[in-house]
Amino acid sequence: MKLTSELIKKKALELGAQVVGIGPVYDEPDPQRDPRSILPCAAAIIGFGFAVPKGLYRAMEHGNQYYGYTTLGVKYIDEEMAEIFLFKIGSMIENAGYDACLQKAVPNLKVKGDKSTNPEVAGTYELIHAEAVAPGKPVPDVIIDFGKAAEACGIGSRALNGKIINEQYGPFMRYCFIITDAPLDLDEPLTEPLCDHCMACAKACTGGAVSETGLDTHKCHEHYRNKDRSNPKLKDLPNTMWGYQPCLCGRPCDLACWQHLLKRGVERIAKENLADIVGIASADRFPKDDPIFKILPEVKSVIGLGFQVLRGIYRGVKEGTTYYQYTTMGVENMEETVMPMASLKVAVYLEEHGYLGLPERRHETIMAEENGMNPEVAYDEVFRGRTEEVQMNFLDAAVRCGLGELGLNHTLLTDEFGPFVRYCFVLTDAILPETTLKTPHLCDECGLCREACPGHAIQEDGTIDDWQCAVYYNGANGTKNPFMPPDAFPERSDRLEVIAGEAKMTPEKAREILKDIWFYPPAQHSFRCSICGRACDMACYQHLEEKGVLTKKYKTPFHQREDWTFSVDDFK
Ligand code: SF4
Ligand code: SF4
Ligand code: SF4
Repeated sequence: MKLTSELIKKKALELGAQVVGIGPVYDEPDPQRDPRSILPCAAAIIGFGFAVPKGLYRAMEHGNQYYGYTTLGVKYIDEEMAEIFLFKIGSMIENAGYDACLQKAVPNLKVKGDKSTNPEVAGTYELIHAEAVAPGKPVPDVIIDFGKAAEACGIGSRALNGKIINEQYGPFMRYCFIITDAPLDLDEPLTEPLCDHCMACAKACTGGAVSETGLDTHKCHEHYRNKDRSNPKLKDLPNTMWGYQPCLCGRPCDLACWQHLLKRGVERIAKENLADIVGIASADRFPKDDPIFKILPEVKSVIGLGFQVLRGIYRGVKEGTTYYQYTTMGVENMEETVMPMASLKVAVYLEEHGYLGLPERRHETIMAEENGMNPEVAYDEVFRGRTEEVQMNFLDAAVRCGLGELGLNHTLLTDEFGPFVRYCFVLTDAILPETTLKTPHLCDECGLCREACPGHAIQEDGTIDDWQCAVYYNGANGTKNPFMPPDAFPERSDRLEVIAGEAKMTPEKAREILKDIWFYPPAQHSFRCSICGRACDMACYQHLEEKGVLTKKYKTPFHQREDWTFSVDDFK
């Protein structure tokens, strides 16, 4: 059978590798590390990655078991597993008539001149007496740089903490390689390093072994083995019988790196799917009786996804020229199309990485309260008193996730878009780095949101009366509703009070009025058209923009003309 890249990859996966890549023989200026010093006619380098189970790290984190990681997660994979594997793949290549130069990890040897050490073994041996065997030859032993080889094969890259990190497995992977003269199809090498120098690993290493300049292997060696007694509770553990020293620090640098990479992946997927802001809260930020623990008892992190509602979508209502776009594109499309896609994709990404991902969206027409109301949907399509369907407290969770701060009118205000934002969540059992809580600085309690409401639905303390809001959100104020006929609400003795936005609603009265507001067709999914256009939010946005506190800037101001209004007299 003809030896092909496809065949090698298929076999490698069958034999237990999780990752395989085939790359070009890269240019290596140091002959002691050059693959061509080993095989001058080398045509390709094949890289294999073996996952290290995260459970081995978890046992170290709990402080009860350290040998498992060292003997299985380091030694067995690098030695026995890689050896059998390399022999099998190497034989396959040689049976096809090509050389297979097997490159397993070299834990205790160093090329001449290398003053670093390997924390994983008790000691390393520098070949200080080695000499080149002939002019033009490198000093033996040639040991290839696994980081460069992994990059050439497109399977990983060297990170700040000295480990090779992989897109899918982060630092939880070990590698071996084959240099060959077989003419194979090559994969794309990595062109960008995966490590972004976030410094999370440096912060996590209590031994101070990682800094901006990289890993101090000698400090790591001391701390890894607890020779610096940084963990006084740990009694000394002997080295394993093969010279591998037990990892007593538990590799918090790797755990921090993994959490960072996972968070980076979550942010990438969210942003590719139109989320503008991503904020993460540890479940510890929530009170113990919060609904998130009923929905997913094993929740460890809450991921908040914030989506801007485009400013241009509000313009039509502000100008009084078009209303359909805000409700369809700013509410219904966001809630039913855009946000579910993003939260599902993030949840699937987490599940592909071995965690639970539970997308959480608003269910606008289901509520626990017996007499509650959601102004955005039809009053008679709401199912009330449905306590069996536990729902998150969206606004509270958004603040805890660091998406923004709470405005006076109980609206989320974000640094970027002010109140022009909607949000949803993903609950997960993955531990992820938290986003810093926002220090409130946007809302100055100016009260403009309250003044702007055409139905006086916002109380002095900022609480919104949902029934009052529903009536005026739907357009009961005739002075701000271009669709209301002059003889609206003919049966009501208080019709002018209602039309002026002065009537005080009870749930019963609100129902009576809402059933008569059919001046504009509703959108899909029970969403009613917003005739107020969320005047409260528009006033707030205008105020924050004029103060210059929003980070997202536009070429022109939101407010460009005097606000328009009809007279109550037109309805007499
Ligand atoms: S934690 Fe950050 S700096 Fe450290 S290795 Fe990972 S990506 Fe690089
Ligand atoms: S309009 Fe003023 S009071 Fe209302 S939320 Fe915005 S900044 Fe706060
Ligand atoms: S402006 Fe509209 S959305 Fe805001 S409180 Fe008033 S009626 Fe409700």
